[in-house]
Amino acid sequence: MPYKDPEKRKAYHKKYSADWNKNNRDKLNKSYKKYYDNSMSDEQKQKKIKASLEYSKLKFIELKRLVLLKYSEDRLVCKCCGESIYEFLTIDHVKGGGNQERKKRSAINFLKYLLQQPLDLTKYQVLCYNCNCFNKNKKEIICPHKRKELQ
Ligand SMILES: [Zn+2]
Ligand SMILES: [Zn+2]
Repeated sequence: MPYKDPEKRKAYHKKYSADWNKNNRDKLNKSYKKYYDNSMSDEQKQKKIKASLEYSKLKFIELKRLVLLKYSEDRLVCKCCGESIYEFLTIDHVKGGGNQERKKRSAINFLKYLLQQPLDLTKYQVLCYNCNCFNKNKKEIICPHKRKELQ
């Protein structure tokens, strides 16, 4: 930091961020221009840009990862078979009701909701697609993985 004097430092920061804002605003204006409704006010336009940026910051996949981490207690594995390939993992509704849930909330809102909830593993758990589909379609509690163990 080149400025020890707080006033100078403030001025430096102000100029720096003003330049930054100007450069980025130009860029943003270009890339978002085509989505604009001409009737929107400048304030509305700025709001829209901000919302898009915030949305892309927390991409769906990152959100899902956070939820999976939470509901697998940081292990990121299928509770049934131990599958650890992230792309295969899903959130399972332990007591069913997944279809209703999907009607009520969009996928991204559901993930946000799960992140905000206190951790309750009797409601939701992490399963891989195989184990999850089996639970759903066959309505059996014991996945073939578990059956093998019992034999
Ligand atoms: Zn599994
Ligand atoms: Zn299984």
